[in-house]
Amino acid sequence: MPETIFNKILRGELPCHKVYEDDRVLAFLDINPLTRGHTLIIPKEVVATLDQLSDESAAALGRVLPRIARAVMAATGTRDFNVLQNNGARAHQAVFHVHFHIIPMADDGSGLGLGWKPLNLDGEEARKLAEDVAARIAAG
Ligand code: 5GP
Repeated sequence: MPETIFNKILRGELPCHKVYEDDRVLAFLDINPLTRGHTLIIPKEVVATLDQLSDESAAALGRVLPRIARAVMAATGTRDFNVLQNNGARAHQAVFHVHFHIIPMADDGSGLGLGWKPLNLDGEEARKLAEDVAARIAAG
């Protein structure tokens, strides 16, 4: 695996503003927050993208994400927030160690901006695609 900033943070070679840690997960404030409270949650498992993550790390992350989100919301006094998880350079991933962002939406409307250009779901194509994906999930 390529060396990353987050790996150095995990090994204690670089500092961070830690908000949570357990056997499998570390969470800390983003160094360039989009808004106050912008937090990163990473597995201790060293993999680049979500599809490579073990079930155990995925479960550990899923277990604490809501708890960390509640704490960030309470600390920032914000009700609305986004959870962002980028995989691959074209999907805006800059640090190639799996991570989730919790990004509070600030009162002034600043926060995560989305370029969302939805297409229409074609019935027949969707049926085939859903079958294909379902079969691949079942095959493990
Ligand atoms: P990505 O685009 O990969 O989803 O986001 C990477 C995030 O990591 C960015 O929001 C960036 O500000 C944050 N980041 C990059 N380097 C550091 C660092 O050294 N410390 C912390 N706390 N955050 C970092």
